[in-house]
Parts: sequence; C-alpha cells; structure tokens
Amino acid sequence: MSVSGVCYVCSATANHTCDSCGGTVCDEHYDAGSGFCVRCVGGRSF
Ligand SMILES: [Zn+2]
Ligand SMILES: [Zn+2]
Repeated sequence: MSVSGVCYVCSATANHTCDSCGGTVCDEHYDAGSGFCVRCVGGRSF
C-alpha cells in the first residue's frame, strides 16, 4: 500500500499504513510480514 505522509515514529517520509492502527510509517518502522507497524507488532517478529 502506498501512502503519502509522515512516519508517526520518526517523522521520516511514510510509505506504508499499519493494518492494525492505521498509522503511517516508514520502511524502517513497518513490518511487511504482518502488515503492522513496529508498535503493533511489538518488535518481536521484526
Ligand atoms: Zn519511521
Ligand atoms: Zn500499528
């Protein structure tokens, strides 16, 4: 999914939207495997 906005974690350019919370996140704070942001994933499967 492509999105134009700002990562809510680090304020970099966001390229993804979390499927869980709907937050916009950059590559670094998005887990492509689950489709969630790092916050929703909990950092365990990152
Ligand atoms: Zn980020
Ligand atoms: Zn999230």
